[in-house]
Amino acid sequence: MTKKHHLQIHSENILPIIKKWLYTDKEIFLRELVSNACDALYKVKLLKIGSEEEFRIDITTDKEEKVIKISDTGIGMTEKEVVTYIAQIAFSGAEDFVHKYEEAKGKEAFIGHFGLGFYSSYMVAKKVTLDTLSYEEGAKPVFWSCDGSSEYEIYEGKRDKRGTEITLSIDDDSLEFLEESKMRALLDTYCKFLPYPIYLNGQRVNDKEPIWIKPATELQEEDYINFYRDQYRMEEDPLLFVHLNVDYPFHLKGVLYFPKITRDFDLTAPKVNLYCNRVFVSDNCKDVIPNYLSCLRGVIDSPDIPLNVSRSALQMDRTVRSLSSHISKKVSDSLNTLFKTNKEKYLKAYEDISVIIKLGILEDEKFYERVKDVLLFQTTDGEWVTIDEILQPSQEKILYTTDPSHNQGLISLYKNKGMKILILNTPIDSYLIQSLEQKLNTKFQRIDASVTDHLIDKEKELIVLDSEGKTEATKIADYIKKALGLEHLEVEAKSLATEALPGFVTLDETARRMRDYFLTRDPKADTSYFGKKTFVVNTNNRLVNALTKLQQNDEELAKELTKELYDLSLLSQREIDPKHLNEFITRSHKVLEMLTEKVLQK
Ligand code: ADP
Ligand code: MG
Repeated sequence: MTKKHHLQIHSENILPIIKKWLYTDKEIFLRELVSNACDALYKVKLLKIGSEEEFRIDITTDKEEKVIKISDTGIGMTEKEVVTYIAQIAFSGAEDFVHKYEEAKGKEAFIGHFGLGFYSSYMVAKKVTLDTLSYEEGAKPVFWSCDGSSEYEIYEGKRDKRGTEITLSIDDDSLEFLEESKMRALLDTYCKFLPYPIYLNGQRVNDKEPIWIKPATELQEEDYINFYRDQYRMEEDPLLFVHLNVDYPFHLKGVLYFPKITRDFDLTAPKVNLYCNRVFVSDNCKDVIPNYLSCLRGVIDSPDIPLNVSRSALQMDRTVRSLSSHISKKVSDSLNTLFKTNKEKYLKAYEDISVIIKLGILEDEKFYERVKDVLLFQTTDGEWVTIDEILQPSQEKILYTTDPSHNQGLISLYKNKGMKILILNTPIDSYLIQSLEQKLNTKFQRIDASVTDHLIDKEKELIVLDSEGKTEATKIADYIKKALGLEHLEVEAKSLATEALPGFVTLDETARRMRDYFLTRDPKADTSYFGKKTFVVNTNNRLVNALTKLQQNDEELAKELTKELYDLSLLSQREIDPKHLNEFITRSHKVLEMLTEKVLQK
């Protein structure tokens, strides 16, 4: 006699997949079951069959019995429904499962739609039972139980109240979920904004209002701030916020905040929380919002983000891409609005938000187009100006300084001529100006990059030639070049439009940028070969003139003073090589000594 065997491979395939592969975080079983309970309550509400007072979700943990129960007063299920929605899915093979997921994507959104939902309970449970009573007239209670194998039991249950109770017999590798504190923390993370009362061992766990689902017209500024304080307890108040609300072509609600940027602020740490119909999904919105906005704070809630597919698939998703560009648009719109309606507030926040604006400009051409009118620069006069205000036809190059505390001589020289000098002193600025130069077809130039016409006093130029065919200016330059004895240094004597400034060193803009770029990568790099320096001395300065005379009666002192003059210029431009500083100080002492002795001799 032969015995017939039944092949049962199809069913065994699924639960191990769930357990191992589907979610890396076991804890999301709670999110899934609680959101199913919420869906069930929401359906009751839609059918208008119950009173809202009785709506509740109860979660209990029992360490002795190693059991977690999740019960709701929702719509319940008939036997047929249990078989169709719960049982058949697990026993119809992986193929159908995927198919069901595909279908679910198109449906109008309830809280669920994470794909697997109910079956995620097998990530922590070795056995799951379900006690349910449907709202339908004359429905019989149903008891269903399955230990994760291919067999399940189903028979008439004893439940006498509408709703569903799910009992999880917790697996030995998941006993931590029996800790009340653990469960409380999880509920606080995933479920605190859910619309129906949730109790853990009798205590209410969710009483927070998700402000982002309210219309902006019903909210005051203080509501937004309070919500922020509640969510980010350790942080200073936000500078600005943006309320998002889209219904077409996708659903999206949310509130984004520009945080106060503190010293230890990490621009790369994503801080926007992602929700799906009020259920927390992830604290990493990286793929949903543009990189440059990922350091914002706040919440994005959209049922349209396919949450259960892998990260790489998420990046490719078209909805996600349009979400991302929509968010970027809303943020730039609100920056523009604030700039127009409350410039004072905008300026107050600007120093902090500018980093984000600048990053966005570098990363996203469209964002640049939208924020270019609210991109501001501070001038050395403390004034804030827009690009339009600095792009003047009379000024072919945009002048800037990387360090307004130094360079005073040059700065006031330009100021006297009515020129605006921008302060560009943050690391991102060097990238920003390169990008703006391309976008605006203009040039930025640091004030010490060259001697421009603005700096020259034409009337006092020493252009008279002597018998040897040399001007007075050339002679001064020759002397200083000789006294310094630096092979690669050019010296020019110019009639600067001031008497106060003895001179300054010019550094070619392109070469200097290159050098600075290398220095940011390696602060110790040898950059001496970058670009040529020119020492420009002022023929209208008394010290410069005195030096050329002094060489006739005290050559050594004149030479040392010339070197001193050059080093002081470098120092005032923050260009002195730190290695050279000791030599400078030693020489300064020596020069002072020589001068003092000279005075005493008299
Ligand atoms: P989804 O929520 O995405 O539909 P689930 O696997 O989470 O997938 O749930 C499958 C179905 O089982 C639900 O759509 C619902 O019809 C039913 N269901 C699950 N939990 C409950 C519950 N607590 N009360 C009533 N019906 C439920
Ligand atoms: Mg679900």
